[in-house]
Amino acid sequence: MNRLPVSDISSAASPAVSTTCPYCGVGCGVKATVTDVAARTVSIAGDENHPANFGRLCVKGSSLGETVHMEGRLLHPEIHGARASWDEALDHVGNGFARVIREHGPDAVAFYVSGQLLTEDYYVANKLMKGFIGSANIDTNSRLCMSSSVAGHKRAFGSDTVPNSYEDFELADLVVLVGSNTAWCHPILFQRLKAAKEKRPGMRIVVIDPRRTATCDIADLFLPVKAGEDVRLFNGLLSNLSARGAIDSDFINSHTNGFDEALATARASETDISTLAHDTGVDALDLERFFSWFATTPRTLTLYSQGVNQSSAGSDKVNAILNCHLATGRIGKPGSGPFSLTGQPNAMGGREVGGLANMLAAHMDIENSVHRARVQDFWQSPVIAGRGGLKAVDMFEAVHSGKIKAIWIMATNPVVSMPDADRVREALQKCELVVVSDCIADTDTTRLAHVKLPALGWGEKDGTVTNSERRISRQRPFLPVPGEARPDWWALAEVGKRMGFAKSFSWDVAADVFREHAALSAYENDAEHGLRDFDIGSCADISAEDYESFAPFQWPRRRGESNGAVRLFAEGGFFTPDGRARFLALTPRAPVNAPDAQFPFVLNTGRIRDQWHTMTRTGLTSKLLAHIGEPFCAMNPDDAVANSILPGEVVELESRWGRARARVQITTDQSPGTVFMPMHWTGVLTSSSRVGAVVNPAVDPVSGQPENKHTPVRVRRFEASWHGFVLSTERLPLPVADYAVAVRGEKFWRFELAGTNAPAERAELANELLKSMQAPLVEAAATASSTETLEYVDAARGVYRRAVIAEGRLQSVCFIGPDAVLPERAWLSGLIGKELVPLERRALLSGKPSDPAADVGRIICACFVVGEKTIRRAIESEKLDSVAAIGKCLKAGTNCGSCQPELKQILASCALSAETPAAQKAIA
Ligand code: SF4
Repeated sequence: MNRLPVSDISSAASPAVSTTCPYCGVGCGVKATVTDVAARTVSIAGDENHPANFGRLCVKGSSLGETVHMEGRLLHPEIHGARASWDEALDHVGNGFARVIREHGPDAVAFYVSGQLLTEDYYVANKLMKGFIGSANIDTNSRLCMSSSVAGHKRAFGSDTVPNSYEDFELADLVVLVGSNTAWCHPILFQRLKAAKEKRPGMRIVVIDPRRTATCDIADLFLPVKAGEDVRLFNGLLSNLSARGAIDSDFINSHTNGFDEALATARASETDISTLAHDTGVDALDLERFFSWFATTPRTLTLYSQGVNQSSAGSDKVNAILNCHLATGRIGKPGSGPFSLTGQPNAMGGREVGGLANMLAAHMDIENSVHRARVQDFWQSPVIAGRGGLKAVDMFEAVHSGKIKAIWIMATNPVVSMPDADRVREALQKCELVVVSDCIADTDTTRLAHVKLPALGWGEKDGTVTNSERRISRQRPFLPVPGEARPDWWALAEVGKRMGFAKSFSWDVAADVFREHAALSAYENDAEHGLRDFDIGSCADISAEDYESFAPFQWPRRRGESNGAVRLFAEGGFFTPDGRARFLALTPRAPVNAPDAQFPFVLNTGRIRDQWHTMTRTGLTSKLLAHIGEPFCAMNPDDAVANSILPGEVVELESRWGRARARVQITTDQSPGTVFMPMHWTGVLTSSSRVGAVVNPAVDPVSGQPENKHTPVRVRRFEASWHGFVLSTERLPLPVADYAVAVRGEKFWRFELAGTNAPAERAELANELLKSMQAPLVEAAATASSTETLEYVDAARGVYRRAVIAEGRLQSVCFIGPDAVLPERAWLSGLIGKELVPLERRALLSGKPSDPAADVGRIICACFVVGEKTIRRAIESEKLDSVAAIGKCLKAGTNCGSCQPELKQILASCALSAETPAAQKAIA
């Protein structure tokens, strides 16, 4: 084995290291300062010099320091659950893949990778699979995130190019947000928009979304488009722009093809404004207003995200938006253009290296024989995949059918995140060889791995990522590598060597890989061979020192250039054979699976404010679970009434593919006939709340992106015979219960429970539950000199409450009742592990403090841990009438600002109940 490519981090505390946040596609710059290396104590601040965030961080970014501890880390390779050396594990993987290829051909193996990988990891994975194994069976979880945008870009521009930059947020006069809860999913971009609007109140913001989300907080106009009707709406806009004479004929004539056909098709799907309004579910006057604003505002920026992409018509939705921008010539100009917001930190980097099964490296096309020959020549590889590989949904289907017999999964958790996730689990259970590289030991996917490879975590990784605006930044290591964790690119290269390709996989450090990636991007990339968009030839010979001091830049930045391109396409120059952009003629298509009498609701899935993907990292800090700790299903009040569902009850969502349970959240933000459930909860943290199991596996025929936003489901009250919760000082195993959720709190664990089993006595039920959970509690109690149990039983009402106090400190409580109406958890949670004073002890089993002020309620501001009840009391007692006043009084909302929309809602609801002058002002 060659020398290990891990950074030598000194044991002394270090000066601040500039790196990049590992969560969303905003790509914020972070300054990390290690204050205690051994304890892995790190202080985190926004990097004021990074052009994505200029020093600001959202609550997820600010909490990064709390997620770098060692809990749950995978530290050593394992084969079939037994510790192995790296040599043994790599031999096992190399031999296993080689055997399958020998016996069944290269398409019998696959890599499933991730937008969490660094570009260097991604580059090596793609090179090994496409250039040396000779299959294109490498796909990525970015398929689930933005592959429709890739397809849309390529169809319109001839290349996967984002034409604009974040600085256009401040320059736009009209910002249209489509299918994007930017406030929660790209919080720093939302803050930039909000600040721009505060500075220039004339700037208008339109939100187009089936759900009223926190993003509407800054909207001048909200269009609650019916799920799946975006193409119809943007066709209507195109037709309307033409009717108003608001198109840019010069741009169309000089730089595009296909406008007449696109317009004719758009006109065919649009009749008159009132029919269009009816078909799209939008008020006719609002629709008129939107069309008028779009027509008359040259500086219009359209931001779109997963609500557009995650659809069986996702590519068409993207092109419907691009059509409107091409028709008005509003592309790549200051404050003006279409802008896809990527979900993941390195979705763009993955696209650059060809991490999708239908792409080749450096934005070249796998279907293009010239491109294939060029890449093979550059790599000097024995083969090159001759056609596109299997996209994510098809890939796991091929694993299920046995066509794929060996799969290597890196930095992602498909058993949770894929649609029809139970089938993905079944597929992996049947697979001959499942290799999983992860930094976390216990995930739904690592549980099915034959080989586990310990990966580096954030703070240890060394490489580059690209954000939504084409800006490449460094992720730099600042923590020592724990155990035997290693970079993913290194593990891939070692397997490549074992498969006989040593010469082509012999890099020493990440910078070597980056240099090669940059050189390929510039290889035969010129007027003679055809110019390609992605070119970072300026880095092809980057020195080790320059790689270290690397400042973020936007591609393309060709050889000899020192500045990257801020914008593209304002003067045409598209990457099609004739240099012209292409309009697409688009006929609206209904989602593949429509609701019916059996499955009448449309399920939409997505992110919440404080969590990331499958919670393997954001779930490591209680701070990020304080706002929303339990999976929920948002439902319109009329639907709740019609289905006899009461607030706070557990509901069951069932589709033709699977089921999941969640706590209902009844809200008018949700349109009738639709429900929303977050994507984050896993089988590790819950017994039955993986929403991926419910999601249909329908995909967009062009991009292969799954339709995560539109699954027909039925929603029923979960007929539990009992509900309960346990609070404990220790993390306990999840009990066997129909509904069980583990929630990490600050210095405690909370377990939300419900079940249909009905032992005669609640005490018996509590005993059963606690028996299955209690080992850590027994251990803790065994070391205590005194243990005392308090109980309250009301057999007639089916109520049972128990508290265990060890050495005067509250060790655990268990509350069980016949329905979901149980005491609030906030006050009791604060008592766990605490030495109880007599008043607390007396009130304990009532679940309510004798002093109401001690109950802070549900946490709204995660940064300063400020609860809803505290906020409401302060609004009332201090006569607070604005978000700023709340901030001044309680600090809530003054750090990352993510909770400001909710603060506004609380002010409004206090106003409604109090109807005081101050409250009325808040509503206004
Ligand atoms: Fe990280 Fe995204 Fe938050 Fe920035 S906005 S700190 S990149 S999660």
